[in-house]
Amino acid sequence: MSIISKDIQQAAKLLSNDQLVAIPTETVYGLAGNIYSEKAVKLIFETKKRPFFNPLIVHIPSIDALESIVSHIPEKARLLADAFWPGSMTMVLKKQTCIPDLITAGKNTVAVRVPKHPITLELLKALSFPLAAPSANPFGSISPTKPEHVERYFKDTIGQVLDGGPCANGIESTIIGFEGNEPVIYRLGALAIEDIEAVVGKVAIRNKKEISPDAPGMLDRHYAPTTQTFLTDNISEVIRIHGGKRIGILVFKTEVNDASVTSQIILSKEGDLSEAASKLYDAMHDLDRQELDLIIAEQFPDYGLGKSINDRLKRATFRS
Ligand code: AMP
Ligand code: MG
Repeated sequence: MSIISKDIQQAAKLLSNDQLVAIPTETVYGLAGNIYSEKAVKLIFETKKRPFFNPLIVHIPSIDALESIVSHIPEKARLLADAFWPGSMTMVLKKQTCIPDLITAGKNTVAVRVPKHPITLELLKALSFPLAAPSANPFGSISPTKPEHVERYFKDTIGQVLDGGPCANGIESTIIGFEGNEPVIYRLGALAIEDIEAVVGKVAIRNKKEISPDAPGMLDRHYAPTTQTFLTDNISEVIRIHGGKRIGILVFKTEVNDASVTSQIILSKEGDLSEAASKLYDAMHDLDRQELDLIIAEQFPDYGLGKSINDRLKRATFRS
């Protein structure tokens, strides 16, 4: 029997009993548990095979709940929350003492977000606790943007995937930390930097070595298909090098005319970066299931969501 269901009350019941439920958000599906239940939070790490040093994002129902999670809200954090919540922005702020160390990997800061999905907002409002919810995929693999992706990963290990349809934005939230009271980008994501800068002015992007500990969104290899993947600005050249193999192609807007290609996905014929982002992971799941020898992805334009897509594609290509 399928574990995909629209039953919000069942989800609330499972979560209130220290169980995990996969929840829909506008970014990707999350593997959710009660932040105050040690049993549930440990189960999140265990189910994902995620190392304990990687902190989790806390999901709250509204801006009003922020003060019960964080101890200090810089002026620019308020501006950002007012501008983008509910939405695809996570902020890392000084934590309240009640936030368990397991959530924050022992740090004195906590990552928090108000997600923008009507079903999950309804669920969060019905619960008396916030939800920790990393992406609902095994550590390092492609994030889920449809209920079926989660079901394939976890049908034997979790009770329910709360069905909210496909994720509208389709890549993880943009994470913003604070140095003093100034915002800096920790992870590129579904909210474009240009939109953030329109609210708070110029922001720096920190690379992984500048942020401690080394967290999953920061790892070189992450969001990765099992099929070997290449990222290039010259697709024809890479096809030529790999002649005779079963090749899958992932492109932004322009079809590649080459008879030797086995499978091809065009992310947005109109050249719309938001549409491309929303379809990216589903396309990666799709190509990864076709028993190809390799996947060749096209480099995106280096602005707006193109920057975030390039970040994810780059991590998909690393082999250790
Ligand atoms: P995920 O929920 O899998 O998208 O990953 C959550 C990400 O949030 C982690 O990989 C970290 O990059 C980031 N994060 C969470 N908490 C903190 C924190 N206290 N300090 C810095 N980064 C954090
Ligand atoms: Mg993740």
